Amino acid sequence: MSIKIEPRKESDKGGYLCLPLCKNVPERKDGSVKIHCPVCGEMCWWNKLNIGVMFRSKLDGAMCTECAIRKGAGNDNT
Ligand SMILES: [Zn+2]
Repeated sequence: MSIKIEPRKESDKGGYLCLPLCKNVPERKDGSVKIHCPVCGEMCWWNKLNIGVMFRSKLDGAMCTECAIRKGAGNDNT
């Protein structure tokens, strides 16, 4: 089985990038830096590669995983 990745349609733009929380992921060795979640202020991991992802996917911004879940982003089961 293969997963087909389709280009996002114009109507799909927007959304938020999930930043892993430092309390869930104590250490990262990929060059990520700790930032405060712009929504709740919790420390979470930011990687400079995120900028490219946000640009390509036309995301509205980034927030920690918990805030993203609260917003319903990335959760199609609700
Ligand atoms: Zn947050």
